[in-house]
Amino acid sequence: MHDKTLCVMRPEVSHEGFASLAVPTYRASTIVFKDAKSYADRKYRGPDGYSYGLHGTPTSRTLEAALTELERGVRTVLVPSGQAAIALVMTTVLMPGASVLIADTAYPPATGFCENFLKPRGISYKVYDPMIGGGIAELMDPTVKLVWTESPGSTTMEVQDIPAIVAAAHAGGALVACDNTWATPLNFKPLDHGVDFSVEALTKYVGGHSDLLMGSVSVRELPQQRRLKDTMRMMGIGVSPDDCALVLRGLETMGVRLAHCAAVAIDFAQRLAELVPAHLVLHPALEHNPGHEFWKRDFSGASGVFSLIVPPAAEEALPDLLTAAKVFSIGASWGGTHSLLAPMNVTGDRSVTASVHPGTILRISIGLEDPRDLWTDLLPIARAIADSLHNETLHQAEAPSP
Ligand SMILES: *Cc1c(COP(=O)(O)O)cnc(C)c1O
Repeated sequence: MHDKTLCVMRPEVSHEGFASLAVPTYRASTIVFKDAKSYADRKYRGPDGYSYGLHGTPTSRTLEAALTELERGVRTVLVPSGQAAIALVMTTVLMPGASVLIADTAYPPATGFCENFLKPRGISYKVYDPMIGGGIAELMDPTVKLVWTESPGSTTMEVQDIPAIVAAAHAGGALVACDNTWATPLNFKPLDHGVDFSVEALTKYVGGHSDLLMGSVSVRELPQQRRLKDTMRMMGIGVSPDDCALVLRGLETMGVRLAHCAAVAIDFAQRLAELVPAHLVLHPALEHNPGHEFWKRDFSGASGVFSLIVPPAAEEALPDLLTAAKVFSIGASWGGTHSLLAPMNVTGDRSVTASVHPGTILRISIGLEDPRDLWTDLLPIARAIADSLHNETLHQAEAPSP
């Protein structure tokens, strides 16, 4: 062979005796075939065979298989973000004329997808109260093909009665999807409760280091994976094996990361609930949290994200308090090693939940820093809230009665 050929063709090296604990990163666009017949027959390899890099490499298949086992499903597909996972399920299940029921507390871009993408294409949606439970039966009609759940709800943390919703949805002929990003399959297994599509933003706890974007959908029945893969093939959607390798690395430590974040978050939530009126603290593990009984019944644990309602009197002081925090960063995409604070206002995103707090809700994501340093940042915020309420009460007491 001439040099230029040697540059392109690689010598075979032995793998004999090499056993690594790391998952190799297999990159590929094209896949080569051992003979002309295998090439001609490649379409018969099906969605689980290898045909093109876009449709999977051993690296992505390893991640899919790991998630499938954790979710106790039959297959998992990987997409470039959590939002892509939401869009994939909805575009696959819903045809023009169909409709979807979506929880008022869903990740706001999920509802945004219904409004801005599905609606103009003749697919309607209806928003429901996350605490509706089996009452969702009353919203079912023959056009409803999908019920979208997210538990606990974004920012306001309502835990849904998933088994009751699944029973009513299936009775009405609809499939059910659950955005399980907060719990991860370590703390809740939607497919075990009859959910058809378990959706995860791997960007959050599974990746776990705020350095990648990926989403997954795990299914309970094989035909659903076939349908999802068909949509992905038509749209040309796939994920990078390098990102899959990072997610696989994140997955290895997820158990200890999550256990730590959950323990600190629950401890902080309880401490905060003693400093400010308890109902201002939103965490599924607190007894007053809406759906706490479903969390106790269905979940095996918690994660490190919870919220603190900021009363109107404390709103003015909040921006300076957030800026003063030394360890927490200000940011939205939680689930990494760095703790985050995100001031949220959910009123614009909600249409049917009656009692949602109209002002700022502070979403807190606990990371892996020393909890003592984190508490040093949170304490002044809790004190400012307590003081603002105390001053308000004084003012009310001083105000002359009309
Ligand atoms: C972050 C998030 C998503 C979206 O994930 P991306 O990878 O950022 O697109 C979806 N659902 C929930 C509950 C999330 O927190």
